[in-house]
Amino acid sequence: MKIAGICFCAPFLLFLACKVGHAEGSEKMTPLLLAIQDAPVPFMGSDGRVHLVYELGMTNFSSGDITVEKIEVVGDDTTLQTLDTAAVAARLQPAGQRESSGTLARSTRALLFLNVTLTAGAKVPTELSHRVTMRASAAPPGQQEFTESGGTTSVDTQPVALISPPLRGDHYVAADSCCDATRHTRAALPVNGRVWVAQRYAVDWEQTDASGRIYAGPAEKLQSYAIFGQPVLAVANGVVVSVIDGLPEQTPGKYPTNIPLDQADGNSVIFDLGEHRYALYAHMQPGSIKVRRGEKVHPGQVIGLVGDTGNSIVPHLHFQVTAGPSSLSANGLPYEINAFHVTGSTGGTEAFDQAESNGTPLAITPINPPQEVKEAMPLDQLIISFAAY
Ligand SMILES: [Zn+2]
Repeated sequence: MKIAGICFCAPFLLFLACKVGHAEGSEKMTPLLLAIQDAPVPFMGSDGRVHLVYELGMTNFSSGDITVEKIEVVGDDTTLQTLDTAAVAARLQPAGQRESSGTLARSTRALLFLNVTLTAGAKVPTELSHRVTMRASAAPPGQQEFTESGGTTSVDTQPVALISPPLRGDHYVAADSCCDATRHTRAALPVNGRVWVAQRYAVDWEQTDASGRIYAGPAEKLQSYAIFGQPVLAVANGVVVSVIDGLPEQTPGKYPTNIPLDQADGNSVIFDLGEHRYALYAHMQPGSIKVRRGEKVHPGQVIGLVGDTGNSIVPHLHFQVTAGPSSLSANGLPYEINAFHVTGSTGGTEAFDQAESNGTPLAITPINPPQEVKEAMPLDQLIISFAAY
């Protein structure tokens, strides 16, 4: 084998075999393999920005740790976003783990959860790629810095589902909504042989009373919760493809243990919205579901009541749209709600979690006058009104 350039072959550096003369300049070691499974579908957020939400898969195909120091997201020929070491460390999650880390252990896989935003009216790129700067510890000192490009994907320009609100009324909280909350957006699950992020754009709708309390009265009582019993509404014309009913309410305040996977959604309904889009409503009250499999529904039709069934800690409505009629083995798709008002914002997930467990009023920063939003997705931790103004 003819060797060109500096060779740093060593027994412990299998991946760092040398540059090969036959293809001098055209072949380069890429110890971090980059791939995108599900291309982002651009959509409008309630912040007036276009969001590209997706996962960049990384495999450390080397015998040592790789620390990702910088990632530039390139759209066509323009750098759209640069993530520094700290930003990468907050968004890179090794497979099967909930904790993020900027260092990828040898021979492991991780997902980098991205939320690239563009100003409204900016040209949406047709293709994305990624320039990654890293330190590969398996290489000898002085040769550990690598930059490689990859993870190239076309942007998915399929139309975004435009839906009506799943609930009616005021003081709703879009909990764990897009795009940087971790519980849904990062719920990458290996199901039926591949990794799916069905919940990528899911929202756990909760509600407060006028004083900001998620519940008032005994925490373990379902009726204490502002949202309990709210009518759940069909969001579009569609056909019911799945109904689960008859599962019991949980006791609020604690997650059930050992719940089977097929009962995790509790009493739930899946609609076929057409064009390979499906809407899932989960955790409704037992006996409250008013639609049957095969039934056609129209927007605003009451399909059930908000409950606390399945894998649920307090009464809430879990709502999501996917590309398949399954709650887990389907690709999560964005959607836009035709009209709503943003009346405030919370102090974030942690503050929300505290208010939810203590029953103390949620500190809300009001937006006066309420911001009228049309055709957008309500983003995380906003207070939303679906009332007619
Ligand atoms: Zn949820």
